[in-house]
Amino acid sequence: MVKNGSLVANKQFETLMRKADIRSMSGIAVITSLVKPYMCPGTCVYCPTEYRMPKSYIASEPAAARSQQLNFDPYQLMQKRIEMLEGNGHPCDKIEYIIKGGTWNAYPLKYQYWYILESFKACNNFSRDVEVPSTGEDEWREKKLEDIQTALEEEQTFNETADYRIIGLTLETRPDAISPKTIHHMRRQGCTRIELGLQAPDDKILDLIQRGHSVQQFRDAITLLRQAGFKVDLHFMPDLPGSSPEHDVEMYKTLFTDLALRPDMVKIYPCAVIKSAELYQWLQDGRYTPYGEEGLFRALLQMKLETPRYCRISRLIRDIPSEEIEAGNKITNLREELEKELHKRGQVCVCLRCREIGRQQKLMSAEQLLADPEIVVETYETIGGTEYFITMEDAGHQAVYGFLRLRLPEKIGEKNEKLFEYMPEIRDVAFIRELHTYGQLVGIGKTEEGASQHTGLGSLLMKEAERIAKEQGYNKVAVISGVGVRGYYEKKHGYVKEGTYMVKTLS
Ligand SMILES: [Zn+2]
Repeated sequence: MVKNGSLVANKQFETLMRKADIRSMSGIAVITSLVKPYMCPGTCVYCPTEYRMPKSYIASEPAAARSQQLNFDPYQLMQKRIEMLEGNGHPCDKIEYIIKGGTWNAYPLKYQYWYILESFKACNNFSRDVEVPSTGEDEWREKKLEDIQTALEEEQTFNETADYRIIGLTLETRPDAISPKTIHHMRRQGCTRIELGLQAPDDKILDLIQRGHSVQQFRDAITLLRQAGFKVDLHFMPDLPGSSPEHDVEMYKTLFTDLALRPDMVKIYPCAVIKSAELYQWLQDGRYTPYGEEGLFRALLQMKLETPRYCRISRLIRDIPSEEIEAGNKITNLREELEKELHKRGQVCVCLRCREIGRQQKLMSAEQLLADPEIVVETYETIGGTEYFITMEDAGHQAVYGFLRLRLPEKIGEKNEKLFEYMPEIRDVAFIRELHTYGQLVGIGKTEEGASQHTGLGSLLMKEAERIAKEQGYNKVAVISGVGVRGYYEKKHGYVKEGTYMVKTLS
């Protein structure tokens, strides 16, 4: 009715009508699509293997169910999801797009490029007078890879100024699929973040569960990804065969003490036994017994306390309907229960997610909220470079209003040379791996009273990052920018597109 002019927009009413507010609390609408079922090189024992589902997914998970209903068609999935979210009052002008299912790099290259091409097209067609027709899965098979790549580039350029912009793209893969070449392709596809399943940093357990890669392979993959400026979201799985609550906590600690790991985000998915997984047999014949809810709760509580400020615990359990779980955690509100327990003990989780302003503001006084935030810079070492975690926080360091991840790479290793062969634009650059300001999602170009999205936080953080880079002897900065925010770096900060990155030479 607002659109057709029969009603005047009322912000207060819209806020009241907005369902599931949490989804856009971080300032961005998250849209998840699944790729079609395809072989996965893995043989992990805990992995659900359902007919007509990509490996590791269960048909009753919400995103999986939606994807199956639309026959894993990327175009339909994107359009329907935008319509649905907007119908529920969530603006979708900034989309964090997550593609899930199996191992991305195991899919044929043509399929990968086609899937992303159709996703961008679906967003762009909302802004077009004459729509570019969607192409089906059979049509792309006939086309040359270069043609699909060129079409994707055109859609990406259009998306820079479209109404629905893809500002970040997450792909899910395995460490043994990461190489300079696959990284290059994922950059061309617009990928900015990788989800990697480590599960357990212990070769004995990885062997036992038939994960098919070693901890060292994982360390190499995450290092290489970081050397290309990617953000890495790591999956950790407590309660696997061969572990115990104590051992899980010890392993979790190594995620942050091992200089090759130190992930930006972590998803903690306690092992759940699903009927279609091999682990179900193990459960039946006694080879595996989960360590029980009490042990799991205790371990997770400790993990929260071991998480450093730069890391975001983005998920704490997987969205598996409890009736599918034969054994393992069935508490669906585990996260809330853990928070309650920490609160009771007078302890806090300082992970990035828990400190986001959206979650902290109801705990803060008016004075705290009105006081000017300040910039805090924390550094930590990783293999191949130093990370600067720059945040804008309230004076009491309770809440984060926005943050930036700056990486200053050091030694040029052999693998880096290979990376530069594919992407010469990233030689000797300082990387801005992530820039994020929080607040209720505000339309691009609009301002709304009380919202923190467009109060210049981003610019302050960028200036600080460029200052540090220059001070440390770098004269070039590269942003691993999502397609939909290229324009922001260009217009607001003077960056230019070079290869697949936004680059600026510091004067
Ligand atoms: Zn936390």
